[in-house]
Amino acid sequence: VTTVLYCGGRRGMIKSGISALDKEPVHMGTTILLIYTGGTIGMMADQQHAGVLKNVDFARIEREIPGLRNLGCRLEVRTFDPVIDSSNITPENWAELALMIRDAYDSYDGFVILHGTDTMAYTASALSFMLENLAKPVILTGSQIPIGVLRTDGKENLITAVEIAAARRDTVPLVPEVCVYFESALLRGNRTTKYSVEQLHAFESPNCPPLASAGIDITYNHSVIRPPARKQLEIHTGLNRHIALITLHPGMDTSVLTAVLAAEKLKGVVLRTYGAGNAPMDETFRQLIAEAVSRGIIFLNITQCSRGSVNMRLYETGTFLDSLGVVSGHDMTTEAAVAKMMHLLAADIPDSRKKTLLQRSLRGELSEEPSASCPD
Ligand code: ASP
Repeated sequence: VTTVLYCGGRRGMIKSGISALDKEPVHMGTTILLIYTGGTIGMMADQQHAGVLKNVDFARIEREIPGLRNLGCRLEVRTFDPVIDSSNITPENWAELALMIRDAYDSYDGFVILHGTDTMAYTASALSFMLENLAKPVILTGSQIPIGVLRTDGKENLITAVEIAAARRDTVPLVPEVCVYFESALLRGNRTTKYSVEQLHAFESPNCPPLASAGIDITYNHSVIRPPARKQLEIHTGLNRHIALITLHPGMDTSVLTAVLAAEKLKGVVLRTYGAGNAPMDETFRQLIAEAVSRGIIFLNITQCSRGSVNMRLYETGTFLDSLGVVSGHDMTTEAAVAKMMHLLAADIPDSRKKTLLQRSLRGELSEEPSASCPD
């Protein structure tokens, strides 16, 4: 379903500054595609049934948020049919989003995706890999309180996400990346993780500073934002689901690990290790990993700590993984590691190349030097 909302008019432009560096409002005359997938942001109280929430009709979103008209940009709305709680998101939905963006790419200046918060960080990570050579903003947002509830955080999140998606200087978009905007912070999508179930500050980007922060003005952190790609947008909808995410814990039952590694089509494992990328050195564990590596299974080592990076050269409990051929995921989030593994395992390139690329920054998802944070 596509609906066109014409949000013309210059009223309100004085206060909606983009950054101190910008001479004039740079979102005038832009066209933004708003894609509503589902989630809390799209809910409102049902007047007929007390305590029940129902879906908002985003085609009429200007009724809920009249302020959107003052942004001076044109909004078109598309809605997933049916809308989904983000816990039900699948790689097919990611492919649907990537295809929607590709097909609409030349007709819009930016994209805003309204998404449930539960898996928003996975979707943002996956889209960052699926959309290669991105030169336009793709901003995901949602809310903790439904948009139809008085104290909602959804209105501010939505308005600012649209404003950021429309922000340009000399016709060049200010943020040509896949991002998450939430509670005043614009975060690189593949660096985010859902941090709180209850607070309005629901997302963090532990190893990468915000790309922008919204206060009275929106202040952009230009040194962190990646430049727009010069090449043509290329999309990769293929994702290999034959991966496992394994979190180590003391006393782990190796028969469970054996069963997982024996899965018939298994191709890759994201291993959530301790601290700087360490794991138990007992012989059974070592042999299980060695045997799986010899069968061509690719292991990617990320840390259970939310801040800091894997460094397998620090301890014997890390070097043995390195010597077995486990590759470092540096400071990637779990969400980015899972999405990147699915993306690279689907690529038609040799395994050795996949291992190399897993350890390199493709879309700013990791800091290659252990001490560096962002902006790779
Ligand atoms: N369960 C909801 C979802 O992720 C939660 C939310 O939107 O905050 O779709």
